[in-house]
Amino acid sequence: MTPIEKARAAPRPTVTLPQYRRLLRDSGMVSARIDKVMTNLEEMPATMRRTYFKAATGEASPRECIQAFCAECVGWDRASVTECTSIGCSLYLRRPWK
Ligand code: SF4
Repeated sequence: MTPIEKARAAPRPTVTLPQYRRLLRDSGMVSARIDKVMTNLEEMPATMRRTYFKAATGEASPRECIQAFCAECVGWDRASVTECTSIGCSLYLRRPWK
């Protein structure tokens, strides 16, 4: 089982930040990017980590990538995505949680 498959199979609350760091190292990601991804993982609510991790490692669907991008765009606040007023944004009509 690959590190990505392990992350997918794990129940959401059981993947800890140190485990995410190990999975990123095992994926072959360069260390500078690991540090940036880990910073994001540390800042976001735990409920958003799995989708973001999948997007950051190239394992997410386009829909999940949009979800992760919108969440990051508004500082990981789901309600702010719902209330997004950037009607000119190319992702506006496809944003999650509306
Ligand atoms: S739709 Fe809104 S929340 Fe999503 S990326 Fe665009 S501006 Fe950000």
